Amino acid sequence: MKKAIVIGSGIGGLASAIRLKCKGYDVDVYEKNSYPGGKLTTIEKGGYHFDAGPSIFTLPHLVDELFELAGKNPKDYFQYQKLDVSARYFWEDGTKLTAYADRDKLISEIESKLNANGKEVDKYLSEVERLFKLSYPVFVEKPLNKLSSFLNKETVLAIVNIRKFNLFTSLHNHNKKRFSHPKLIQMWDRYASYNGSNPYTAPGVMSVISNLENNSGVFLPKGGTHSITQSLHQLGIDIGVNYHFNKKIQKIQVRNKEITSITVDDTSITADVFVSNVDVVSLYRMIEGAAKPTKSLEIERSSSALVFYWGISKSFENLGVHNILFSDKYTEEFNHIFNQKDIYIDPTIYINITSKKELGQAPNGCENWFIMINAPSNFNQDWNALIPKFRKIIKAKINRILNVDIDQYIEVEEILDPISIENKTSSHRGSIYGAASNSNLAIFRRHPNSSKQFKNLYFVGGSVHPGGGMPICLNSAKIVDHMIKNIND
Ligand SMILES: Cc1cc2nc3c(=O)[nH]c(=O)nc-3n(C[C@H](O)[C@H](O)[C@H](O)COP(=O)(O)OP(=O)(O)OC[C@H]3O[C@@H](n4cnc5c(N)ncnc54)[C@H](O)[C@@H]3O)c2cc1C
Repeated sequence: MKKAIVIGSGIGGLASAIRLKCKGYDVDVYEKNSYPGGKLTTIEKGGYHFDAGPSIFTLPHLVDELFELAGKNPKDYFQYQKLDVSARYFWEDGTKLTAYADRDKLISEIESKLNANGKEVDKYLSEVERLFKLSYPVFVEKPLNKLSSFLNKETVLAIVNIRKFNLFTSLHNHNKKRFSHPKLIQMWDRYASYNGSNPYTAPGVMSVISNLENNSGVFLPKGGTHSITQSLHQLGIDIGVNYHFNKKIQKIQVRNKEITSITVDDTSITADVFVSNVDVVSLYRMIEGAAKPTKSLEIERSSSALVFYWGISKSFENLGVHNILFSDKYTEEFNHIFNQKDIYIDPTIYINITSKKELGQAPNGCENWFIMINAPSNFNQDWNALIPKFRKIIKAKINRILNVDIDQYIEVEEILDPISIENKTSSHRGSIYGAASNSNLAIFRRHPNSSKQFKNLYFVGGSVHPGGGMPICLNSAKIVDHMIKNIND
């Protein structure tokens, strides 16, 4: 039997291991942590369960199809519900808006709460739906470093329509041309942050991200997003994937343009195929004698985050699962993150509360708040000073907007920052989505899924093509699956 080694058990690694096993390989996953999932993990404290990383879950069929590929019923492992409200928005001037999944309801909410032109929203959502259908099969489902990706009907159609992608306009300018109300511009600029990018420099084509939330829908897995990790890990066990935890790969050995083995605990382990789920920057540090692909390694990193996990001993009627408390100066917020490598004094605050729908996630009458602000990636800022400073700022903004004294309800607390993200997952500079999309051709500069130097080395996860975010990482594993031959071919 041919042997495959997967390095790292983030969502991209878990999916790759399942796909390789289904191809007939003998699969071993080596993970430096004591648990699977990488960023997609959990924190439990004082009766509260928190999803430690991702909370916005879209395109659930990409998880389902892994069970189907293995001949299993996805429902036996993994369940989820579609949310009828994708987010609740709050502004400092007292405006509140509920973003319904249903388009007509969303439009009438926008008309009544913002007194804005609902037709603009309708037109925008139809446009992003068309653009998504044109761009997804080309830029997300295919490798961009293979000629074969460009010799098909879908790519020709995308090339013919390339002007519509607005690659040379920023997302913000793209949105400014489509919405007359500043709050609508801000709401749709925000989607750049879904892959850690800056709406003022990322290209207009990023508008397609909003298609996921506004047209396809936002889903909540039963038990929170961590159940994605649990169920994929369980599926791997059931079909015979071998997992090795607390096993940090130290070195990767090469001979004649092939990877021959990895070194773990000073022992060398050989295989035929190697799939890296490790951030590419860390990976190249491990390969002995590899030439570094500087163009893709030097590409600007995505934003990172400061996250506070608060067990709150009260229930808040006016909050939903996903809540956004907007900054009044959005331009300044992104200018600080990407240019000044700092956090603006009035950051946008995201509050995720899964216990709104999943009652077991918090004690009775209480809520599990995941509070996140975007932060620059780690350039040795003084995080020890920034964390208490922004803890105070966040509390003050929550108190102002929700008219509460939140301090008295915080029962438990945990904190995640760029340094801990880097330490826990080896993400270069603690960025949460790998490379940012802050230039018009960034997508073409991302590290590809295969290696020019080593023919049996493949790459998956947020730091490589097509990029960060759970569904996108799952696509990287799918691309690699198509690149690697079946055992009997
Ligand atoms: C706070 C936060 C919020 C987020 N919000 C969202 C969201 O709402 N929606 C969304 O879709 N995405 C979100 N993301 C992004 C999403 O979590 C990531 O894009 C995705 O989980 C990355 O998966 P990955 O496959 O790249 O692996 P990672 O999660 O990066 O895991 C890599 C794994 O490799 C292991 N590893 C590293 N080095 C070694 C080594 N030398 N030897 C062995 N193992 C090694 C690590 O320990 C880790 O387990 C968020 C991320 C964070 C941190």
